[in-house]
Amino acid sequence: MRRLPTLLLAGLALAACRHGLPYRADGRAELADLHARYRELAGRHGWIEETVFAYPQGERILAWRTKQEGEALWLIAGIHGEEPAGPNAVARSVDRLAELAAAGVPVVLLPLCNPRGYAANWRYPNTSQRDWRKGGYSVGDAEHLLPDPKDPARARTPRPPGPETAALTTFALGLAQRYPPRLALDLHEDELSTEGGYLYSQGARGKDDPAAREVIAALRGSEIPLRLSGKTRFGEPIVDGVVGLDEQGAPIQDGSIDELLAAREVIAGGVRAAGPGSPSVIVVETPAFAGSRLESRVDAHRRVLDRLGELWRLSRN
Ligand SMILES: [Zn+2]
Repeated sequence: MRRLPTLLLAGLALAACRHGLPYRADGRAELADLHARYRELAGRHGWIEETVFAYPQGERILAWRTKQEGEALWLIAGIHGEEPAGPNAVARSVDRLAELAAAGVPVVLLPLCNPRGYAANWRYPNTSQRDWRKGGYSVGDAEHLLPDPKDPARARTPRPPGPETAALTTFALGLAQRYPPRLALDLHEDELSTEGGYLYSQGARGKDDPAAREVIAALRGSEIPLRLSGKTRFGEPIVDGVVGLDEQGAPIQDGSIDELLAAREVIAGGVRAAGPGSPSVIVVETPAFAGSRLESRVDAHRRVLDRLGELWRLSRN
């Protein structure tokens, strides 16, 4: 078949998405329906809604938070657009979040960080290419704020890779001053894992984080398979379902918003500053290989969210 120019292909893909196909072929909810569910937190429960970033084309990255400030639970989802289980599970767990807030837990919610990617089933906001070496960047990339291990006085990169990335990481860093993360959960999927789900524990508690064990216990109740041992495709060892160290045995440095929330030190405006330093940062990865059922994966994430109260208790010092 003759190859169409890339721009034309991208235009066709976007046009198709706007008509409900093909991004919803896996059964994921429409973007507008997800936002309507999240908005209940503001409409019915008095949470504060904020726009983190607005694209010129109209899509917006939105955040919700409780009025109550202080040590907080951070819940992030939808960083990668081809990983829909997290944002869908959060939409179905709005009541659970409202209950937690009513019990006095400050919460910061970023449930759909990559709305463009979600609506195109693209991993990154700027390209359909999944391979990051082909120009894609993640909306959660934080290397411009994270110290370079070789020279901790400098950031790893001079600037953020994209405007939404700049907005999201700046927003997170600013809000972490008033809502310091005590427990951060970031819901992902791994469509290249054919063997099962696992999680990363990136806070100071690392592989020994009791909250990580609790998340694995929650996932065990679902029908998704789990990888309890072996190695990730990056060579990181999996111990009882938890990845707490990289292939060299060092803390995981992936340059993500998760590392940012765990960081004790950041480079803000070119200057070293105290970081959010969350003791518990857990990144859930459900297996999203072709043929896996979205409903099963959403159910797995929901089971984790059902235990938020217990996870919050476990994250106490
Ligand atoms: Zn992901």
